Amino acid sequence: MAALMGNYSRIPLAIESAEGAYVTDEMSKQYLDFTSGIAVCNLGHRHPAVELAVTEQLKKVWHMSNLFENRLQETVAEAIVQHLEEGQVFFCNSGAEANEAAIKLARKKTGKTTIFTFQHSFHGRTVAAMTATAQAKIHDGFGPLPTGFTYLPYNDSAALKAAIEKDEDVAAVMLELIQGEGGVHVAEQSFIDEVIATCQAHNILVIVDEVQTGFGRTGQLFASQKYSFVPDIMTLAKGIANGIPAGALYAKTAVAQAFTPGSHGSTFGGNYLAMAASEAVINTMTAEGFLAQVDATSINLVSELQLLTEKFPFFKTVRGQGLLIGIECDSAVADFITACRKEGLLVLSAGTNVLRLLPPLTITTVELNKAIAILTKVLKNKDTIEG
Ligand SMILES: *Cc1c(COP(=O)(O)O)cnc(C)c1O
Repeated sequence: MAALMGNYSRIPLAIESAEGAYVTDEMSKQYLDFTSGIAVCNLGHRHPAVELAVTEQLKKVWHMSNLFENRLQETVAEAIVQHLEEGQVFFCNSGAEANEAAIKLARKKTGKTTIFTFQHSFHGRTVAAMTATAQAKIHDGFGPLPTGFTYLPYNDSAALKAAIEKDEDVAAVMLELIQGEGGVHVAEQSFIDEVIATCQAHNILVIVDEVQTGFGRTGQLFASQKYSFVPDIMTLAKGIANGIPAGALYAKTAVAQAFTPGSHGSTFGGNYLAMAASEAVINTMTAEGFLAQVDATSINLVSELQLLTEKFPFFKTVRGQGLLIGIECDSAVADFITACRKEGLLVLSAGTNVLRLLPPLTITTVELNKAIAILTKVLKNKDTIEG
């Protein structure tokens, strides 16, 4: 570890192999993985269709510069756009990169500067994406930050309207439909309706960061489909290739056209292996019945968790959509997460008091019941220890 930078406080667990919803550590201990690499391996670890696609692609070509045409990029872009009426796609390698590209595109298209973002948001760690992230702890020590970002309260239409009246130079409103890192806060439909109407009235672009909510996580391919609208700009990464690094920027064609030749680029973006994986991901998720099953699993999981909130005061409320679930707890969740790990279940936090569950979308009823049994056991032990 000594040669690795100390920017992560790592959990003392190193995984050697993985399959489906399970991961196995160096001591051959198995864990049920309700983290999915933070909403990356949405189809479970080493999904056979993705593994096959990448293995086949490995034998053809790995990398060519974006100076050349790339049929796989065209195929994946088409598959994404199909679910969004029309538009165009640029490929990059991560969520932060997709958001950087979104900010550049919005400014280039509108000729304006300000990007409105929301308190508790998370948009990534590069200088501009970090500045878009309205959390002081993420900025600490990295100033001066670029100008042109204004932070607003989430789910507050009045505050948005007031801010727009005060600023003539607004390029875009940028938001998550569920704030994942910021505590699993779900946008209200009425708020999103207001954002869209207000932005349309003022020629302001709507950027939706679907890095965490995209690729089936909420029970639709994109969370914006749950809210029945197509964003002007949308950013994607995490689940896009089930663990092969990739990201994407979608925009309506009229907006996308602001990226003229030479305006933006990426060496690795849209890499063949990543695109082969992504094609398999989209094909699997859009197959008949897949997303409906995610909704059914979600209802099942949420109702089991609701029962736990009735029995155990540590679990206060359950939030989220699809299989992006947050449980507001009555105190810090760190020890609870460690206890779950000892019992063979990996779960995440989202802020101090929120437990976050991101099971693979392919989770079975048996696996789900096993996770609930572990959560119940840890909750029982907790009450015994404390009570
Ligand atoms: C994870 C995340 C990002 C950053 O993605 P990276 O690939 O780590 O750069 C941006 N936005 C949201 C909503 C995220 O959840």
